[in-house]
Amino acid sequence: KHFDFNELIDSVVEEIQRTTQRHQIIRRLTTSKKVFGDQDRIGQVVINLLTNAIKYSPQSDVIYVYTKLVNENQRDRIVFSVEDFGIGIPEADQERIFERFYRVTGGNQNTYPGLGLGLYICSEIIKWHGGTIWLENKKEGGSIFSFSLLLKK
Ligand code: ATP
Ligand code: MG
Repeated sequence: KHFDFNELIDSVVEEIQRTTQRHQIIRRLTTSKKVFGDQDRIGQVVINLLTNAIKYSPQSDVIYVYTKLVNENQRDRIVFSVEDFGIGIPEADQERIFERFYRVTGGNQNTYPGLGLGLYICSEIIKWHGGTIWLENKKEGGSIFSFSLLLKK
């Protein structure tokens, strides 16, 4: 199965944008590409990453989503990223953030309710698709979550 990646991003971003007054989701997408996988499940991953970006950015209003194309081990892949300017994730927690029920504790993170399931589900779905998902923390504050998927030849 395959689907048009940009069309999926457009529809998810429009859906999520309607739920938030304050945050503005800005898209910087490369030319449209066909991706292998289950459109609904990948859509769920994008929803989880965007809702986290909104939830953990109480003081900033811009969220970027962007794609780039890479070639890794002779295969063309798309890398999709969600970048926020929110509270960020302490270095010590970064390694465990994709574990089931794992949540950052301490400081103001206690004020954000949640189960700690969203990122675990994201990582399971991306793994089933043969992709990878990772996190970059920014010194200036905020985080960048990215995943890669194989492109249809
Ligand atoms: P839910 O199961 O409802 O998604 P959750 O948001 O707490 O609950 P995850 O989405 O799995 O769970 O995220 C795990 C933890 O990672 C969060 O509790 C939060 O501490 C941290 N986190 C996730 N995304 C971000 C982000 N964009 N900025 C800062 N911290 C984040
Ligand atoms: Mg979450």
